[in-house]
Amino acid sequence: MIQTRAGFRGLFQSLGLASFQSKVGAYCNYASRAASSLQQACEPSTYSDDNYADLDWDNLGFRLLPTDFMYMVKCSKDGKFEKGQLSRYGNIELSPSAGVLNYGQGLFEGTKAYRKQDGGLLLFRPDQNAIRMKIGADRMCMPSPSIDQFVDAVKQTAVANKRWVPPPGKGSLYIRPLLMGSGPVLGLAPAPEYTFLVYASPVGNYFKEGLAPLNLHVEDEYHRASRGGAGGVKTISNYAPVLKAITRAKNRGFSDVLYLDSVNKKYLEEVSSCNIFIVKGNVISTPATMGTILPGITRKSIIEIAQDLGYEVEERVISVDELANVDEVFCTGSAVVVASVGSITYQDKRIEYRTGAHSVSRKLHSTLIGIQMGLIEDKKGWTVEIH
Ligand SMILES: *Cc1c(COP(=O)(O)O)cnc(C)c1O
Repeated sequence: MIQTRAGFRGLFQSLGLASFQSKVGAYCNYASRAASSLQQACEPSTYSDDNYADLDWDNLGFRLLPTDFMYMVKCSKDGKFEKGQLSRYGNIELSPSAGVLNYGQGLFEGTKAYRKQDGGLLLFRPDQNAIRMKIGADRMCMPSPSIDQFVDAVKQTAVANKRWVPPPGKGSLYIRPLLMGSGPVLGLAPAPEYTFLVYASPVGNYFKEGLAPLNLHVEDEYHRASRGGAGGVKTISNYAPVLKAITRAKNRGFSDVLYLDSVNKKYLEEVSSCNIFIVKGNVISTPATMGTILPGITRKSIIEIAQDLGYEVEERVISVDELANVDEVFCTGSAVVVASVGSITYQDKRIEYRTGAHSVSRKLHSTLIGIQMGLIEDKKGWTVEIH
């Protein structure tokens, strides 16, 4: 069913399995001192040539590493966005009374570009990010770029920063589109001018745990979103309010926070920046998105992949009590891809889950990232190749 186009080496690395390439790398470092001809055959030597920025590609985390260019375009309140332009990455000028600074009128998106073995770059469903930004812009009373303009801006940003796209298997270029009210306001109102901006940063694993299972803490004091709020769109105003819960959980040794619904404090919603799934036997379930949960593109893709692999997938209300009785839990998001959850702690009770090589989440992860990296044939037209 799944055909592999290229070698499995990059895939293995992304899975954190026995690293063939690191052994080759170590050998190269040693051998290069003695035999320069051998060095040419070894991949690590290509990292330092003109095609790559000078970075330690083996130690990428999820932190900002500024790249060369960003894309920017402005528009007035009723107007269309003009043709955007790339410029050197750097600080931008904003009025102290900009809508985004005073009232949080802003949205963000996140997507990734992977480098293929043949040097081409692959984007994953960027049109879906464009559509989501449009929906979010409507909720936040902002004009938005067209789908084509959004996708074109993401492509331009990826290509312009190509030397920052990690070598195959080492990570990806995380691309961050922003839409904000940049014009001045004093009274609470939509801003008179908007800025659409796209920047990028090379990244490795999102969590400091790397690919190790996550330990989540169920939060029962703070909530991420409420009915009638804006939890279902990627507005910047959803994130600062949960820093308190995240910080507290991290100080107690947890990886992240799992939020419950704000009405009953009983039903699973999602994690701070990713969606959640539970697995029991052949059935995979995830909370239905009904306005308080961010409808992830990874979530949607994993639902389809799981169905293709023969699992039954349900989108429904999931009670926190069910966590005591499931085989597996995993999270999905552009930044985390598919991350297995090793334990969840709720009211001081810790429950552990199956993880590792034979888990459902591992199978889903390798299928999805195989498609994203171009190692598994994309039969769904999800990937967009750019040069
Ligand atoms: C971005 C995000 C997700 C994941 O969405 P993807 O499209 O899969 O990246 C999930 N939850 C929250 C709160 C998010 O901000």
